[in-house]
Formats: sequence, C-alpha cells, structure tokens
Amino acid sequence: MSVKITGYETHDVRFPTSLTGDGTDAMNTDCDYSSAYVTLKTSSDLVGHGMTFTIGRGNDIVCAAIREVAERLVGKDTEELFANMGQTWDYLCSDPQLRWIGPEKGVIHIALGAVDNALWDMFARSRKKPLWKLVVDMTPEELVNATAFRYITDAITKEEALTMLRAKAAAKAEREAHVREVGYPAYVTSAGWLGYSDEKIARLTKEAVQAGFNHFKMKVGADRNDDLRRGKLIRSIIDDPQYLPAGHKPRDPNGPDLAGKNAGPTGSVLMIDANQVWDVPQAIDYVKSLEPIKPWFIEEPTAPDDILGHAAIRKALKPYNIGVATGEHAHNRMVFKQLLQAEAIDVCQIDSCRLAGVSEVLSVLLMAAKFGVTVCPHAGGVGLCEYVIHLSLIDYIAISGSMERNVLEFVDHLHEHFIHPCSINKNGRYNVPNAADEGYSIEMHQSSIERYEFPKGAYWATEHEAAKAKIRAT
Ligand SMILES: [Mg+2]
Repeated sequence: MSVKITGYETHDVRFPTSLTGDGTDAMNTDCDYSSAYVTLKTSSDLVGHGMTFTIGRGNDIVCAAIREVAERLVGKDTEELFANMGQTWDYLCSDPQLRWIGPEKGVIHIALGAVDNALWDMFARSRKKPLWKLVVDMTPEELVNATAFRYITDAITKEEALTMLRAKAAAKAEREAHVREVGYPAYVTSAGWLGYSDEKIARLTKEAVQAGFNHFKMKVGADRNDDLRRGKLIRSIIDDPQYLPAGHKPRDPNGPDLAGKNAGPTGSVLMIDANQVWDVPQAIDYVKSLEPIKPWFIEEPTAPDDILGHAAIRKALKPYNIGVATGEHAHNRMVFKQLLQAEAIDVCQIDSCRLAGVSEVLSVLLMAAKFGVTVCPHAGGVGLCEYVIHLSLIDYIAISGSMERNVLEFVDHLHEHFIHPCSINKNGRYNVPNAADEGYSIEMHQSSIERYEFPKGAYWATEHEAAKAKIRAT
C-alpha cells in the first residue's frame, strides 16, 4: 500500500549552554546550543526525524522556514521520493518563490538541511537500517542518483563519480567489518573552549588523553598571549608519556596516520580554531606567531565565503607546515567546490545540516575524494556528533576508502537527549551505530523536547532565571 507524507511538526528546542561557557570561541561568546527539530509524518506509522543546529536566538526563524520547505512534501508518495533522492533534493530546493530568499544559503538552506535529513531518516527506517548502512549498501548508480549534482559537474561528472565508486565497491564489506571492529577515529574539542580556565583545560585534557584520544583542538583568536599559554599547557600534557593510559605506547609521529600533522613525541596532534575572527593578513601574522605550539591546521581563519582568502592563508602558512581547514560555515557544495579547485584547504570540514542534508553532503564527499582532500566533519553543537558518524562511515566504506588520516570531531555535550546517542570506545574512536530502527540517530527524547522547548517548556518557563542567578552568584 502506498505511504504518503501527511504532515510535519517542528520544535524550537534550546539548551542553556551559555551558563557554563560550553561552546565558547572567539566569535561565539554566548551560545545556547539549539535544535530546530522536525518530524515528518505519514499515512502509516513510518516517521522521519531531522534537525538543524543553531546557537540560540533565530532558532524560531529556522523552524518557520522548515515548515515552508516541509509543506512541499505533503501528499507525496514516500517510495517515489526515495527512488531518486537527488531529484527529490532538487525539487525541495527549487520552490519558485522560496528560492528567492536563498538560493541555497542562509536560513532557507539550513531549513532544507533539517527536512532532507528527516526524509533520509525516514528512508533508512523504512529499510530497517541505520542511515550509513542504507547508503553504503546502494549500488554506485543508486548513490550517484541520490546525490545533489547540479552546479558541480565542472569539478566532477556523474561518470567520474561512478568510476570512483565502482573502484571502491569490491572492498566495501571488508572496510565495513574493519570499522565495526576498531571504530572511527575521533578528536576532542571540549577541552579547549575559550571560556574555560587553565585549570579546567588541564583537567579536561588529561581526561581526554586517558580516554584514548590523540588529536585535540583548542579555540584561539581572542588574545595571542593567552593562546600561546593555553597551547603550551595542552602540549605539556599531550606530549608527556606519563599521562598516556596504562598500556598505551607513544605513537610514531612520522607514521602514515600522523606524518605532516606536527605530532609531538607521544604522537599527539593539536589543532586550532579561530571561528572566522581575522582578516586575511591578520590571520597569517597571528597563526605564524603560534608556530611554537605546532598546530596541524588553523580552522576557519577568516570569513567562510572567502575562498581566495583561504587560499592565500594556506600558501603563506605552508613554509610553517601549518595547514588550513574550513567548512562548518560553507553554505553549499559550490563553496566546497571552489575551496577544492583553488587549493585553499588541507582538510574539508563538512557540516551535516549547514549543507542541505545527506544528498548535498554526498556531493562534497565525492568532490573531496576526487581532489584527495581529507574529510574531518564538524560536530560541535547538539546532535551533530549523532549525525556525522554516519557521514564519515559513508566516506570511508563507499567513497574515499580511507580513514587513516581522518578524525571526526567529538564534543561531549548533550548526548543524553537522544534516543540513540553516539558513543566512543576505549581507544577514543566512535562506535558504529547499529540499531535497525535508529535511522539517522537524531530522534530526541520526547521528554527533552518538552522540557527545553522555547519559550514554554518547563526549563525556560520556570527554571532558567534561577539557574542564571545561581551562576552569577558563584
Ligand atoms: Mg570550528
């Protein structure tokens, strides 16, 4: 019997992370991690959940845009939508009136991200597979059909993508078995938020080393001397073998997974993130002065739309052996295409819901694989870690075929609100999501939605003012 989409529901869910300084960096000093959440409903009991991430005010605007985009799906047959997700994506993004308030950027595009992800979640649930497994089990032809291909054929054609995917197809099962066993490599950001004291940073860094991580990221860009001091503090811990977990030997800093990453004597890597705070010359000057802490890369050194600016920074930092990473604010596949064409990045940081959902992410994964650039997805925020493990598994198993040099961001905040939270194994790597009914792993507990819905949920209506006053008093 045909299943049709009958409606949708959105929720403006906000978590009061600004109270603790979680998520603070040089630009975002006061974040309430938020989810513009959508559930697509059908004529059967099949549903699809999706969300996009914001950091507080404006989350309601995204929810309004989600309703506009989701409306286009009402009355559609789910199997017809699933049969060609690339075409479905084109349809969703080409509303003849809505596209004027994009196209393919800003609020309308991240709203499309929430809706497209919800549809992919529904697709995976309908096949009783986690999302990553649904995609890696596709034939090369099916995967290419599911990809947003418009405007990128000057960088990669469908035929080239098919050739690449076919070349990787034979060993998919082997790679799937391997990653199920060892997990997917991760790095940790939550030790290095700008709003944390040195004492808290030292404690969290030691805990992260103990948990098996060997890639660490800290926020920079507010004060050069502070950054050097904090960077040296982190380096003093991650480079010292005494802090390694029992039984862990130092890794070879020149091994194939670490070569070129400025790894220290224990094989630990430090990355830095400026969250777009500098002009181009300022970025070059500032990052050069951080050479003593030996970062692998500088993330978001300048405005996210400035492709040639990133290229100039990368060129200027090359003699210092410091790379450039960006992507969490790259608003569509064309920006990634140009970053790759201009040789502006060493590391490609896709975001699961700033790009407009799985179909557009697939196009960037294919381009990055063709250009030979490592993909290390962005995953701060709420829900993003749950999402991106699926995308990295797709990249490794079906597209690039490699995870040796990749690291997927991990931030240990707010996972408890999800029915299928992501998890990390004892070697600091992501476990593979495996439940038949978890879809894209983004379904939130109903109780969390009710409690944190803004402004009427119990937390915001009755507890927030007291919590704020308590923090101020300490
Ligand atoms: Mg960042």
